Amino acid sequence: MTAIEGGCYCGAIRYRLNGPIAGTAACHCRKCQYGAGGGANHSALVARDAFELLRGTPVAHASKADSGTEVVRTFCGTCGTPLYSDTPNLPFRAVRVGSLDDGSRMAPSVHVWMEAAPPWHLTEPNAVCFVQGPGSRRL
Ligand SMILES: [Zn+2]
Ligand SMILES: [Zn+2]
Repeated sequence: MTAIEGGCYCGAIRYRLNGPIAGTAACHCRKCQYGAGGGANHSALVARDAFELLRGTPVAHASKADSGTEVVRTFCGTCGTPLYSDTPNLPFRAVRVGSLDDGSRMAPSVHVWMEAAPPWHLTEPNAVCFVQGPGSRRL
């Protein structure tokens, strides 16, 4: 298997995923809308210790998620590309699909925090959509 690689738009940051993708998700919460420029935040989950930083140092910003837990979001300090986020109580890193070299096979398996989505956020037919976090009431 060829390792999945990614990085930011300007090339200052590069990374490699040395483990399988455990899942994909689109988060529609208000904070992710800021991070994504308006749309949902699309992430691929990978074990945190499988994430290998090859070049550069991402900028980190910590805040409280709508679920109440702390989330640390990282981005490139030069070009602003969102890169990944970490939640301390989860073993996974949520890598932003837009920073992967090839995100074409990373369609979201679940959509979360749909209660915060504006009416024009689209989901695919038969998508699994949760009102809040994973496991909450389904739409
Ligand atoms: Zn950059
Ligand atoms: Zn979110």
